[in-house]
Amino acid sequence: MEKKQFQAESKRLLEMMVNSIYSQKEIFLRELISNASDAIDKIYYKALTDNNLVFNKDSYYIKVTPDKDQRTLTIRDTGIGMTKEELEEHLGVIAKSGSLAFKKEVDVTDGHNLIGQFGVGFYSAFMVADVVTVISKSIYSDQAYKWVSAGADGYTIEPCEKETVGTDIILKIKENVEDESFDEFLDEYRLKAIIKKYSDFIRYPIKMDITTSRLKEGSDTEYEEYQEEQIVNSMVPIWRKNKSELTDEDYHKFYTEKRYGYDKPLQHIHINADGAIVYQAILYIPETIPFDYYSKEYEKGLELYVNGVLIMNKCAELLPDHFSFVKGMVDSESLSLNISREILQQDRQLKLIAKNIASKIKSQLQSMLKNDREKYEQFYNAFGRQLKFGVYNDFGMHKDALQDLLMFYSSMEKKLVTLDEYVSRMPEDQKYIYYASGESVERISKLPQIELVTEKGYEILYLTEDIDEFAIKMLQNYKEKEFRSVSSGDLGIDTDEAKSDTDADDNENKTLFDYMTSQLSGKVTKVKASKRLKTHPVCLSTEGELTIEMEKVLNSMPNASGVKADKVLEINVDHSVFRSLKEAFETDKEKLNLYTALLYNQACLIEGLPIEDPVEFTNDICKIMV
Ligand code: ADP
Ligand code: MG
Repeated sequence: MEKKQFQAESKRLLEMMVNSIYSQKEIFLRELISNASDAIDKIYYKALTDNNLVFNKDSYYIKVTPDKDQRTLTIRDTGIGMTKEELEEHLGVIAKSGSLAFKKEVDVTDGHNLIGQFGVGFYSAFMVADVVTVISKSIYSDQAYKWVSAGADGYTIEPCEKETVGTDIILKIKENVEDESFDEFLDEYRLKAIIKKYSDFIRYPIKMDITTSRLKEGSDTEYEEYQEEQIVNSMVPIWRKNKSELTDEDYHKFYTEKRYGYDKPLQHIHINADGAIVYQAILYIPETIPFDYYSKEYEKGLELYVNGVLIMNKCAELLPDHFSFVKGMVDSESLSLNISREILQQDRQLKLIAKNIASKIKSQLQSMLKNDREKYEQFYNAFGRQLKFGVYNDFGMHKDALQDLLMFYSSMEKKLVTLDEYVSRMPEDQKYIYYASGESVERISKLPQIELVTEKGYEILYLTEDIDEFAIKMLQNYKEKEFRSVSSGDLGIDTDEAKSDTDADDNENKTLFDYMTSQLSGKVTKVKASKRLKTHPVCLSTEGELTIEMEKVLNSMPNASGVKADKVLEINVDHSVFRSLKEAFETDKEKLNLYTALLYNQACLIEGLPIEDPVEFTNDICKIMV
């Protein structure tokens, strides 16, 4: 009998399999079962077109049989089988494996962690077996053939006996070595669990003889063990079932079974798409934030099945970052089982699915917002931050899609409101959407800067999270209404008279303000008469793009460059403190310097900015006390 060599590429992949790391070995069974299922599919489709062939569903199955004594594991299928030529062609060469071209560039050691994620095919058998024997009889041939290989050094093919059409794959399971045991692949319970894990939804029955015990006949104390053939897989996955057959409880059970989360899902989305692209998906919005959600460790992604076979645990390509909290799975017949990560990124079908999924999630959230406000707020409190990141990220690419999902705390409603709600109740004379930033609702509500806007009776959105103002800046406007910070120079509120009034105040007090500006050089760019203060003596505002809240956020980041907002110290010229300033300006410059420093530091405190020199500040206060 002649020994034949594997093709060079096959040889490389074989070596990779043999050296693969332990935790991934179990997937060989997924691969062999999915090949068996493919082979049955082929005979099934043939029967659809060939009148001489009847497809009797009951006679098609896959059977997995361990034999501890022989140390073999047999995977039998009643599929289409392989001719001698097909055995040579399909098992001797890796011709079309899409993932191989990609693996060529990865060196063998790096390749290992890829194995668990991709369909690697028939060769994965060598992860657990020293010798692989394939006995196959094709539907097109009366003669069966036996293909045997002990790995990289080649294979043999010879005629043999086999009665029925189909294929038996017989694995001679490796002997245990020091730190690795292969016994588990001979253990019926372990095998059953592996099948459940990866191949539960294969649509043909996967059978096993399971050892069970029963009372011995005629005895009511003595038990005997016997073997019972069982179907191990459930065959119809929940996602292929009709929504109307399923209860919330079923979805919850699946969520728990799959360990998508340990909480209860807040909402599930069951998609059965059969338009241009065919796929099923069950998606969940969790109730609580996973503990590592806002950390680098968190990995987004959905489980990806191809035609009922699990090929990837976390397919990141299926979810946009702003919906990274979504858990669940997708099953599609339109993808290839041997899909690699590189191919995934460009795969047109996968992109279509991802796009479709994103819009489904969005519309689900929108209807939750509309129909179940309480639930939406619960969701928003957990994951709203991620939506705001989504608005800001990618140069605002997703802002239009996300803006209607945003909510902010309202000064008037004292609760979260949407931008649409805000804009729809704006009085006609209100030009802008006003917002104020700060650490908390409490603190913002005490900011002197909000006085004028509040007095006008306008609603203010309170931004309390570090990302908020960045997201607002990215949006720029909503329904043609521009966003405006209550601390910005122009609030669009002043009547023309009021404006010339403050301008007059500025001119009148120009020398005083110039003097104070020079005293505060490096700290503020300007001191001026305030248009917005009503009862407070001072506040800080900013000119230009950068606001004080943004300055704080940027400076709290690692390797912050110490950016500074252009700050303006605004003085309430109607306040009695201003008279003291004027008086001091005339008579006592020393006193004016002291007042200027104090007012500036007070304004900083109100803003939640650190006082540069707290000791000096308290000394200054003492000076005015004596
Ligand atoms: P893939 O399944 O992606 O084609 P595999 O390495 O898993 O790659 O299998 C290679 C080929 O061997 C299959 O395409 C099929 O033609 C053939 N084959 C493998 N197992 C069987 C089987 N049980 N019955 C019939 N043909 C099989
Ligand atoms: Mg395969």
